[in-house]
Amino acid sequence: MARDTGPQCKQCRREGQKLFLKGERCLTDKCGVERRSYPPGEHGRGRQKQSEYRVQLREKQKAKRYYGVLERQFRIYYEKASRQPGITGENLLRTLECRFDNVLVRLGFAASRRQARQLILHGHWTVNGRRVNIPSYQLRDNDVIAIHARSTATQVIRDATELTGQVPAWLQADHDSLTAKVLRKPERREIAAPVQEQLIVELYSK
Ligand code: SF4
Repeated sequence: MARDTGPQCKQCRREGQKLFLKGERCLTDKCGVERRSYPPGEHGRGRQKQSEYRVQLREKQKAKRYYGVLERQFRIYYEKASRQPGITGENLLRTLECRFDNVLVRLGFAASRRQARQLILHGHWTVNGRRVNIPSYQLRDNDVIAIHARSTATQVIRDATELTGQVPAWLQADHDSLTAKVLRKPERREIAAPVQEQLIVELYSK
């Protein structure tokens, strides 16, 4: 499975905002954006030329980095979203939001999407009673998520739940039994991603 293994703080610095890619560290003053609030690289502090294309491109890159999705997969998500009824940008965000790795983060069962992916790949989670080890797995209404009975990651997951604030209303989590349910698909206003999806649609529809 292809995945982005590059330095994560550099990704946040490139986008000029915190994308919360590293879990607990993002909440401390060791955060890369807090320490160096300019883009990485030799010309990071230089003047950046702004153009419509550049703004749209950066928004797309930001969304990819936030959800940990590579270009090819992201493009496939966009193509599918554009064929669905409704607003393409919202369809795209909803699909990204319903990825298994993202849902684990929203539920508080993982401190970051990278950690969620590792827990899924190592078989620590089940969906509707069956082990699912695909981080991009699309969750549907009424899916029941539970820690695998023989999982050895219980403490890691419990530690992650302590970092969690509120679980969104479209999900239901039980942090004691480490189980959860997808109640429904999220509305746009319930998706807390720092992304202006319309700019991505404008970029791809050129
Ligand atoms: Fe981004 Fe977290 Fe690194 Fe801060 S600590 S720059 S939020 S990945």
